[in-house]
Amino acid sequence: MTGARIVVLTGAGVSAESGVPTFRGPDGLWEGHRVEDVATPEAYARDPVLVQRFYDARRAALGRVAPNAAHHALARLDRDWPGDLLIVTQNVDDLHDRAAAGVVGDRPPRLLHMHGELRSALCGRCNARAPWSGDLVAADPCDCGGRLRPDIVWFGEMPYAMDRIEAALATCDLFVSIGTSGNVYPAAGFVDLAHRAGAATLELNLDASAGSAAFDESRRGPASVLVPAWVDALLAP
Ligand code: NAD
Repeated sequence: MTGARIVVLTGAGVSAESGVPTFRGPDGLWEGHRVEDVATPEAYARDPVLVQRFYDARRAALGRVAPNAAHHALARLDRDWPGDLLIVTQNVDDLHDRAAAGVVGDRPPRLLHMHGELRSALCGRCNARAPWSGDLVAADPCDCGGRLRPDIVWFGEMPYAMDRIEAALATCDLFVSIGTSGNVYPAAGFVDLAHRAGAATLELNLDASAGSAAFDESRRGPASVLVPAWVDALLAP
């Protein structure tokens, strides 16, 4: 495997043990809200204050959580893997970034947030993006006069960096999906793109997911155990 080109996809399950609730918990809600009420452009148009407050609360909650062993293991992989690596996360938290800070050195982590980031604001008019740490609900407008919204890819919107992700999948040797339900497209289709490239595919998840059958191998267990074990084996001399 040394030098293999690897694409890793992570979902809400990788942050669950840090205390960040997953999307479709047992009740099918996200922090008590229906997805349609907080994660669509229509919801934002209907009730911008409710939607801003929802993401303001999620952003504030990031200060009370920390990366877990799975984030730290992926940061080690980023630091030590000699071949191509792309970590694509559907997560809007910053736990991968925080685990990588100070570990991968001066360069940016080999990480893409395909669904946006809580700690970023997006201008609804000119599409400028800016790091953001406080509340957005009463923020001043962008320099262009546009209203700032959460930099989150809502249902019906185009995920970020799809060209780069699809190019990496088209040439990868190994695709690993961690803690994602396989319900949300286009990420749920990445395993098929990887197979088409002739890559080996591995799923690490607490339970069987909607997409489990599509993987060559599926391991069950908590990400904080499975991910460090997988990374250790990969980096072993
Ligand atoms: P999901 O909530 O639909 O599914 C979570 C998956 O993680 C499930 O398959 C579950 O079995 C698995 N899981 C739960 N705990 C686990 C653990 N400890 N170890 C390993 N696996 C575990 O999540 P998803 O597929 O990522 O859904 C996608 C959407 O939810 C994304 O658009 C994302 O932006 C959004 N979201 C993000 C966060 C976050 O940033 N942390 C949190 C909630 C939702």
